[in-house]
Amino acid sequence: MAEAPKIHRFSARRLGWLLALPKLGIALMLLAVVSLFWILHRNEVEEERTALIKDVLWLEQDLRFHLTSIEEQMQQLALDLGQQPDNRKLFQLRINNLLRNDPELRQVMWLDAHRNVVDALPSAQPPDQEIEAFGPSATQKAYDMAARLGRRTYSEPFTSNGTAYFEVLVPVYSDRRLNGMLVGVYPMDTLLNHLVPWWFTEKYQVFIVDDNDIEYAAKSKIQGTPNQTYDIPFEPPGYGLKLRVTSYQTGSNPLQRFLAGAIVVLGAGIFWSLLAVRELMRKHSRAEEALRSEHAFRKAMEDSLTVGMRARDLTGRIIYVNPAFCRITGFSSDELVGRRPPMPYWLPDHIEETYAMHRVVMAGEAPVDGYEITFMRKSGELFHALIYEAPLIDGNGQHTGWMGSVVDVTERKRAEELARQQQEQLQFTSRLVTMGEMASTLAHELNQPLAAIASYNTGCLNLLETDNFDARDIRQALEKLGVQAQRAGLIIRRVHDFVRKSEPKRAPCRVEDAIEDCLGFVEAEARKRQIRLERDIETLPATLADQLMLEQVFLNLIRNGMEAMTDTPAEHRQLGVSARRQDGEIIVRVSDNGSGMSEEVRKRLFTAFFTTKPEGMGIGLSICRSIIEFHRGRLWAEDNAASPTGTGTVFIFTLPIEEPA
Ligand code: ADP
Repeated sequence: MAEAPKIHRFSARRLGWLLALPKLGIALMLLAVVSLFWILHRNEVEEERTALIKDVLWLEQDLRFHLTSIEEQMQQLALDLGQQPDNRKLFQLRINNLLRNDPELRQVMWLDAHRNVVDALPSAQPPDQEIEAFGPSATQKAYDMAARLGRRTYSEPFTSNGTAYFEVLVPVYSDRRLNGMLVGVYPMDTLLNHLVPWWFTEKYQVFIVDDNDIEYAAKSKIQGTPNQTYDIPFEPPGYGLKLRVTSYQTGSNPLQRFLAGAIVVLGAGIFWSLLAVRELMRKHSRAEEALRSEHAFRKAMEDSLTVGMRARDLTGRIIYVNPAFCRITGFSSDELVGRRPPMPYWLPDHIEETYAMHRVVMAGEAPVDGYEITFMRKSGELFHALIYEAPLIDGNGQHTGWMGSVVDVTERKRAEELARQQQEQLQFTSRLVTMGEMASTLAHELNQPLAAIASYNTGCLNLLETDNFDARDIRQALEKLGVQAQRAGLIIRRVHDFVRKSEPKRAPCRVEDAIEDCLGFVEAEARKRQIRLERDIETLPATLADQLMLEQVFLNLIRNGMEAMTDTPAEHRQLGVSARRQDGEIIVRVSDNGSGMSEEVRKRLFTAFFTTKPEGMGIGLSICRSIIEFHRGRLWAEDNAASPTGTGTVFIFTLPIEEPA
């Protein structure tokens, strides 16, 4: 059993490790998965950015190409108009063509050197008005710059009715002199609408903004959370305008999502199963612990049993013995388990009878209230065993053998025998005592009828000696004699009856009364012997006892004490009687200052018929002890240490207090 806690500690530690490892594994796996997702996401972001930059560069080039191509065409027209001034037809033909092919160009105006409109397509009106309202300064500035530089120029951006515009101005020279100006008007939103392809807007939002992030135009088909943005200068027209392209978060790869979800679900599943396993292991370990303590408890119970237990299988082979059985027989469990009859503790002289009993037990016919048998210990000592046999039923309800409980009753039997002998002795001695007492009563009582018989007899003889006698007188005397003889016979019979029926009778009795009675009885004799009687008697509770017997004990002890002081100087002849209550008992002491007793006498004191007195019978103390033991008390003698003569004896007896119901 000493191993159990160690095993328990070990398994708890191992359990802790076993549970910690998967936890660590799951934590590492989650870390790896998170890192993987992070790397994938970063790659994705990188790729998105590269694609965005590529697309933006492409868009910027495309816009530049378109604007340059329109510029080229307007430049060509400006050259032609310089050679053929006022050729409106040419202007209209070319510009119509241009507007048809490049719808992002809203309007083209032809201004003369005085900045008056020579012609305009598709109409001259709206731009004029708008230019008057918002654009003059921008157009004027651009006109001036184009005139000064002598080459095509873009205007600053301007807004009109909520729409942002910019213009391209191409100077018309005739004979090296500025003759006019072609002005192309671009509304920025139209520009974006026509030049940004549909697939581009599926992925991005395109804005035209300035340095102050003021938005001039936008094109987009999608809505959502902005993801990445890339700005690129919008030149021409320049003036700090920028093309801003923003990509939008599209739903990530569904397969990737599915995989991530699956990993999370699997991770959760593993974690859950780990928890379940942990709970299971805990339950298991708790059950194991309960089983272990149950086993320890049973073992402790089994070890502390004082009844021997022995199990035999159906063939009579011993399959189990408990420590008490080993203690009783003196054989170890190794020497007994596995043995078949005859067993080593069977009496060698009674093998056959023991076999017979064994067969009875094996046949299931052992007496239900047990049987007694004598066995032999390993040391050779015999002992009496009381055995109860019962069928041994296993966990499946199968009858697998016989279980015997063995009680060593040797001591009990010895005590019973002793008690029986004591009882016999008590009865015998008590009868003897009573007979002794009766003998004196008998002598006293018989004295009278016998004296009467003798005197009648003498009277008759005297009458017969005189010749003159009356036969009637003789007859009368003989009749009276007969009556006295009958009376004597009656007395003897009564005594006989009494002796035969006398048995100890316990009744409520006061010990101090019994002592006082006895002291009163011996007072006269004490005076004669010059002995002082000292009393020290408490008031005691009534107890169940035979008062006559107790008086017999007191008388005997007092008489012995008085007799022992025959040679004691007269001034020290003192006999003490004390009685007190202590620990539920009455303790009575009878002390004398007499001769005391030798070791030899002390040893044989209570032996029947032991006496040191010439006229003594030697049964007094043996009767006293029997009477006291009958009352479940003890009687013993000690030297009287308090005696002034240095010798003397104290007889002490105890009586348990049994208060009457
Ligand atoms: P008996 O008095 O007839 O001899 P008992 O059984 O009463 O028989 O006593 C046995 C013996 O014990 C006595 O003979 C005596 O030697 C010794 N004895 C008893 N009481 C005393 C006593 N008080 N002092 C010394 N010896 C005693």
